[in-house]
This record gives sequence, C-alpha cells and structure tokens, in this order.
Amino acid sequence: MKGKFLFLGTGGSMGIPVIGCPCAVCKTNNRMRPSALLTIGDKNLLIDVGPDFRTQALTFGIKKLDGILLTHTHFDHIAGVDDLRIFTFLQKASLPCLLNDDAHKDLQTRYHYLFEKNSKAAKLDCTVLERDFDDTVFCDVPLKYLTFWQAGMKVSGFRFGDLAYVTDIQRYDPEVVRQLLGVKMLILSALRYDESPVHFNIPEAIAFAKKTGAEMTYLTHVAHEIDHDETNAQLPLNVQLAHDGLELNFDGY
Ligand SMILES: [Zn+2]
Ligand SMILES: [Zn+2]
Repeated sequence: MKGKFLFLGTGGSMGIPVIGCPCAVCKTNNRMRPSALLTIGDKNLLIDVGPDFRTQALTFGIKKLDGILLTHTHFDHIAGVDDLRIFTFLQKASLPCLLNDDAHKDLQTRYHYLFEKNSKAAKLDCTVLERDFDDTVFCDVPLKYLTFWQAGMKVSGFRFGDLAYVTDIQRYDPEVVRQLLGVKMLILSALRYDESPVHFNIPEAIAFAKKTGAEMTYLTHVAHEIDHDETNAQLPLNVQLAHDGLELNFDGY
C-alpha cells in the first residue's frame, strides 16, 4: 500500500515562536506542536492531536479523519482532542483511536466527559494496545508498534512498512531498535544540541538513527535553540530537520 506522510507540526512542546521569546530563531522560524497526518489507501490517520490541531487542520485542509493514533498523553500531544468534535459531528460516527493502556487510563481521567454516555463532545472509539511490541491492523492499515518510557510515562512508536514515527524518546530497550531495523524513513524526535533528561538531543538522535540503519531520518519535536536552515546545513545529508508541511511518500506493509 502506498502512503503519504505529512508533518503537521515539528516543534517542541512550546512551539516556535515561543510566547514572548526575543531570540533569533523565534523571529524567523515557525513550528507547530508535533503531529502528523498519514494517508494510506483511502484512510486519513492523525498521529497525536496537540494544542495546535485546529490551526493545523485549517492550514492543511484536513476534511476527513478515519482514525487517531496517540503516542502518549503529554499536553503537546493530546491538548487538541476537543477539536476532534467537528469530525465526529460531520462523519456522524465516533473516531477510532489507537493508544497504549496508560494513555487510555490517563485520557479517561483528563477527558472524562468524552467517555460519558450521551456526551456531545468528541467521541473516541478506543483500541488499547495489548503488548509492548507487536503487529496490529488499525483502520485496515497494518502497522507495528513499539514501547518506551518518558519520565515514567509509557510512549508508543509506530512503524508503517518503510516509515516509522518515534517521538519523545530518551531511554529505550534494545528491542525498540530491532523493531526499526531496515526502515527507510525514520521520523525521530530531537530537542536541541544540549542534553535533556527526557528527549534525545541531536547527537543522540543521529546515533540512534544509525543503529536502525534508516536510509533517511527526519528530526521533529525541535526546540527554539535550533535554527532550521543553519542546522540542516551542518547535519549529515541523511539526517535533516523536518518542517511543518513537509510531505513524504512511503510504502506501507
Ligand atoms: Zn525563542
Ligand atoms: Zn512531546
């Protein structure tokens, strides 16, 4: 199955520009919070639904969604969940949502009203991932999922054949790398050059990408210490910063 991957947002949790920030990057760079739209077959799948989701849907003309994949429930990945309501109205159906068990529990606490009977809010039809690593089919799309932990929170990564999306990673089990071996396009989070306790910095992301053997790695979830053009000029040719609106073609399973 041929697929298209569209970066809806490539910024870190604060987005760029950062509110009130006078730095040079914030004057010239724009990155919304991290999210992506995967189109495969006739299905539109949204990966994460952050606080910029409404703007992203308007900017990129998203008119239909068939399902949502959530990596984890930190604010920058789920705060737009209420804006899914229009899709459940228009499509007159609840939205299938794939997520891990911790994310499911947390979503039910933080957005309890989505799960109430007769709720007028967005309706999610949740499928909970049963293991840490496995293959599954979601909305007719075959995929592999993998698991790691960020500051005690379980995070899911997803692989769709040639392309994988792994965000908010710092510590991981070697099995994560094994599941990514042979991937052609790796989308990987990297915050900045300085170390972070919860994210890869750029050198760590490059080292991780090398272990997977990815032909091309696109960095996302990038903070305002990083200027797009200046950094891309210094990075290896097979590791580049993504940007909002960048589209990739890939072969699914
Ligand atoms: Zn700044
Ligand atoms: Zn994040």
